[in-house]
Amino acid sequence: MKPKRRDFRLDIIVLLGSITGVTIAVFGIYRWLSGQPLLALMDLGIVACVLAPVVYAWRSGDGLRAGAALCVLNSAGCLTACLLVGHAALTWIYLVLLTNFFIANRWLAVSANVAILVGVQLIPDFFHDGFHAISVAVSVLLITGFSYIFAKRTQGDRARLEKLAAMDALTGVPNRRSMERALADAVDAFQRNGRRYGLVVLDLDHFKEVNDLYGHAAGDAAIADLASILRFEMRRNDQVFRFGGEEFVALLELETGADLESATERLRKAVRGGLRGPGGRITISLGAAMLREQEKTWHDWFSRADTALYRAKSNGRDSYVIADGLF
Ligand code: GH3
Ligand code: MG
Ligand code: MG
Repeated sequence: MKPKRRDFRLDIIVLLGSITGVTIAVFGIYRWLSGQPLLALMDLGIVACVLAPVVYAWRSGDGLRAGAALCVLNSAGCLTACLLVGHAALTWIYLVLLTNFFIANRWLAVSANVAILVGVQLIPDFFHDGFHAISVAVSVLLITGFSYIFAKRTQGDRARLEKLAAMDALTGVPNRRSMERALADAVDAFQRNGRRYGLVVLDLDHFKEVNDLYGHAAGDAAIADLASILRFEMRRNDQVFRFGGEEFVALLELETGADLESATERLRKAVRGGLRGPGGRITISLGAAMLREQEKTWHDWFSRADTALYRAKSNGRDSYVIADGLF
């Protein structure tokens, strides 16, 4: 099963759906106890309708579809309440107008809000007078307009923040957080459809000397250059990440351990041939490992590649080691 990634929309759906479900259930119990079994059963049906998308969202992690269903349900429920109870139900409208933007795509929220606006205008004798009808229409439009602008802004901000949180500022390549996701996804893909992956962990050799002799800025420039070389070397389905410090990780989609070995050697050569610091050539050591079938999480896989890197360092650096248990 794909790992669940919780987001803000999902949390709101679960919170809102659960509160709505519990509130309506309380009304249902009250109706049952006061001798209105038909209405109580109707409440029960509504609770089931509201909880279904919540359970679906909770289990699948798919907030978009569940949010859309809940938005339509809430809006329809709101109109029905206006039809049955009259303008006493108006206060609930404002809550639904607002929450629609939290749970659904903003255009769906606008459409649902417009449907509510038109719907209440069509209910006979719903308003005290024409002035009341106009003032409700204006306030509904204003709330929808403001919520739309707010939702658009927060969605844009969230997308920008997510991008920033996934990137390394110095090199512009994805960071360790992204790497953890990508490795988990690779393990998942291998388990589900047998797609094969290799992992290369690499570290600059004697890098402390570069910093000590030429300063931190020169060190930073070398790290950025290394990232550019690695990025250039990545093939279509490959990805490179900055793991931390002067250590990088490459995730490669390939068929065999022999492919991994030639890719690892290619990376070593590319860096040896292309990376220069103020003091001359800078090299890397690399450790690599193919993902094995018995590895259900990425940690064991990573630790085999890391141990191989350690061995490459012991072998004298500017070299690579492929972890045992290749195939
Ligand atoms: P080895 O060959 O064993 O890897 O030797 P090394 O000197 O590279 O040792 P190690 O990998 O432990 O050293 C890491 C050094 O990298 C320590 C620190 O000075 C430097 N470093 C780590 N992150 C950064 C960074 O973001 N910028 C700069 N300029 N230097 C960094
Ligand atoms: Mg290091
Ligand atoms: Mg190093």
